[in-house]
Amino acid sequence: MSTWHEECGVIGLFAHESAAEMVCLGLHALQHRGQEGAGIVSFDGGRVSSHRGLGLVSDLFTPEVLGRFAGSVAVGHNRYSTTGSCRAENLQPLIAHWRRRKIALAHNGNLVNALELRREMEENGAIFQTGMDSEVIVHLLARSSGADLVERTRDALSQVSGAYSLVLSDGETLIGARDPRGFRPLCIGKLEATTVIASESCALDLVGAEYVREIAPGEMVVIDAGGLRSVPPADPVEPRHCIFEYVYFSRPDSIVFGHAVDQIRRCLGQLLAEEHPAEADIVISVPDSSNSAALGFSERSGIPFEIGLIRNHYVGRTFIQPTPRLRDLRVRIKYNPVRQVLEGKRVVVVDDSIVRGTTMRKLVKMLRRAGATEVHLRISSPPIQYPCYYGIDTPTRGELIASSHTVDEIRTYLRVDSVAYLSLENLIRSAPEGLGYCTACFHGDYPVPFETLPRKELLEEES
Ligand code: AMP
Repeated sequence: MSTWHEECGVIGLFAHESAAEMVCLGLHALQHRGQEGAGIVSFDGGRVSSHRGLGLVSDLFTPEVLGRFAGSVAVGHNRYSTTGSCRAENLQPLIAHWRRRKIALAHNGNLVNALELRREMEENGAIFQTGMDSEVIVHLLARSSGADLVERTRDALSQVSGAYSLVLSDGETLIGARDPRGFRPLCIGKLEATTVIASESCALDLVGAEYVREIAPGEMVVIDAGGLRSVPPADPVEPRHCIFEYVYFSRPDSIVFGHAVDQIRRCLGQLLAEEHPAEADIVISVPDSSNSAALGFSERSGIPFEIGLIRNHYVGRTFIQPTPRLRDLRVRIKYNPVRQVLEGKRVVVVDDSIVRGTTMRKLVKMLRRAGATEVHLRISSPPIQYPCYYGIDTPTRGELIASSHTVDEIRTYLRVDSVAYLSLENLIRSAPEGLGYCTACFHGDYPVPFETLPRKELLEEES
């Protein structure tokens, strides 16, 4: 059973005559948060239109498909997963039929107690339609004795733990909520009378909405005909924003957790240059995720920034199964070196992270073949040693190269002249002060405990 979905993009829109089209635009902007599949659900009074499928937003939502949607409220979701099952039943938004109403829910994050809750409910006769942890929320909503959708949502969310940034609607009310730790981002935007809730502000830019603010950890925002109101957290706890959103996941043109991602990434690169200088002729990035950090490294070190790798943007990950052989091929399809830039040069390569090490090993080989005389690798985050259980897809501990290799062993494996990682202290220094971060992937100190075996180990056991 695959119970889990990974890092995703969510969006909800209230009061717009073309709600589904606007949500579709937002999903285009959030495509980097999930390329496995996407879905939109819109409400037109009692009529619900929906379309979900495997693939990219541009392939799924053709003008013809979009033409079938009606209504002024809509919810959308981009699904991301490299290890989970690639099944249509696991696509979102989830649609629940309940007391002659329909509820659409789009969730980003992982619930760490979903399996226990699900087993308990199944013992009491509940039937689950999907393999997703988010379905637990829908069941809890239906069982709640709360008077309305807001009360029920509050009640349901008080019983789940882990990471969730979610958007849900019954057509009359749109709700945006974040878990008490605030692992995943979720922000509010305004476009005249329309309210938008989205994972990242780049989605607001595309629909022409103005960024208002981030929804606070543990806060629930309710939008209906009466306007927007906030339901504050019942028991506030110390927030644990995912610092990896700043390192890798979010788009650099976004405001995430209230701060501009590009500036933070540049600062990562600057501190990296201070902490681990290199003797080299050029600095290059691994586009696109390390562009800003590489620019920061170049600024601080005085070594010129060059474009040494070209990324092919037209390679989707959809339908490519993550077998080791195809992963290698994917690197070659995705990147090509610029020989004229690299030939005879000592090169600093700045990347945001090393997960398995597969990508970098291939890239280093490519750079040397293209004439680089030395390759100095600088990583703008500390070594990832532990899996994430709060919504970012990282492999099991055994597959993470840094969990079983020293930095020097990684240097040998990658065949680079030197490799160095940004320290945790400097990572935290680069991120906005006072927010409170989850950095568990670097040290294994998980802020929200889980009772059963965590996800990936469990999947391995059951397979
Ligand atoms: P790997 O070949 O497994 O070491 O992949 C490392 C590359 O994947 C890095 O250059 C990152 O840009 C990117 N990356 C880091 N975390 C993730 C993730 N959770 N999902 C997909 N790609 C990632």
